[in-house]
Amino acid sequence: MTVAPVIDQLDRPLGVLRLSLTARCNLACPYCCPDAKEPEGLLNLEAQLAVIRAACRLGAHTLRLTGGEPLLSDRLWPLLEQLAAGRTDPSDPLHQLRQLTLTSNGILLTPQRALQLKALGLDRVTISLDGADAISVARMTGLPGEARTGERLLAQVLRALKAARAAGFDPRLGQLKLNSVIQNGVNQDQLIPLAALAREQQLELRLIEYMDVGNRNGWTEQQVVPAAEMIARLHRHWPLEPVGRAHHATANRWRYRDGGGVVGVIASITEPFCGDCNRLRVTADGLAFTCLFANEGLDLRRWLMPRPDHAGLMAVLTAAWHGREDRFSELRAQLGSPSPHAEMAYLGG
Ligand code: SAM
Ligand code: SF4
Repeated sequence: MTVAPVIDQLDRPLGVLRLSLTARCNLACPYCCPDAKEPEGLLNLEAQLAVIRAACRLGAHTLRLTGGEPLLSDRLWPLLEQLAAGRTDPSDPLHQLRQLTLTSNGILLTPQRALQLKALGLDRVTISLDGADAISVARMTGLPGEARTGERLLAQVLRALKAARAAGFDPRLGQLKLNSVIQNGVNQDQLIPLAALAREQQLELRLIEYMDVGNRNGWTEQQVVPAAEMIARLHRHWPLEPVGRAHHATANRWRYRDGGGVVGVIASITEPFCGDCNRLRVTADGLAFTCLFANEGLDLRRWLMPRPDHAGLMAVLTAAWHGREDRFSELRAQLGSPSPHAEMAYLGG
């Protein structure tokens, strides 16, 4: 089945679906501020599959499972089983999926779960870690001052990286990456230690500018460390040369001249990349967002529950993508921060 992707008002094709499985998290990163409980009306397996298949029919070739913390969700495993079966069937829209990926904080990524993920066809894992020492990890996960907790969490994430690698996610093939949010005045001192850790482990590090997603994190522009500054600081330690940003990608990548691998910066504040954004986001309770910074989502539940209305869902998603003209990051300077807008743990990044 060959699919011609639906195109929006700015000529952007749909290419990636980010599906959040849960709004809950086992951490409480202050820049994200997840909910303690799920919203009402979580999508069931049938509804999740209907959304994914519709997105595939509209051009999605990549599915990123996220949250909240996706490994907290008991919906993850049955979904992966169905995806694995569908991807092998040429008549199934899931056959379109070239990349199946997961973003996790790694706390629950045991060796056994890493093997299960690999066996069920997951292609890539991204693990988030915002500090390379116990105090920073405690602070960035919302547990300030608790060094012992920070130590335990850091050890768990390092174990998760090891488990993912042992299960066959090869960082040299881009199958295992590290995400770090760098926040001025909070963990900017972790930039070099995190880069050193990633270099040591041959992982591609993605340095993310602190974003004004949600209404709870008290974002100010002063807390953003611009990507250019992060790169300049790294360059002073380990000279870099530009690789560039691939079409539709989020990260602008640089190569260490000494052969220490690649590092990327996700500069959605200072160097927005709305111009070729191909990402559709659907929350765990079935709201579709075409922009991280949108004020409100499109409620898909009436086409999903109690039973999916596949034709209706296709029509509403086609119309939503076709009518899309958002490019909030590019307009931020003119518009200011939107108010109110959806939370990150709800959208999934
Ligand atoms: N719990 C998982 C994790 O932490 O990887 C998946 C969900 S989390 C919302 C996805 C990504 O969004 C993480 O890498 C996290 O660091 C990033 N993130 C969350 N809030 C952010 C913010 N305000 N600015 C920039 N990145 C943010
Ligand atoms: Fe949880 Fe991820 Fe948000 Fe941190 S960034 S609170 S790990 S959902």
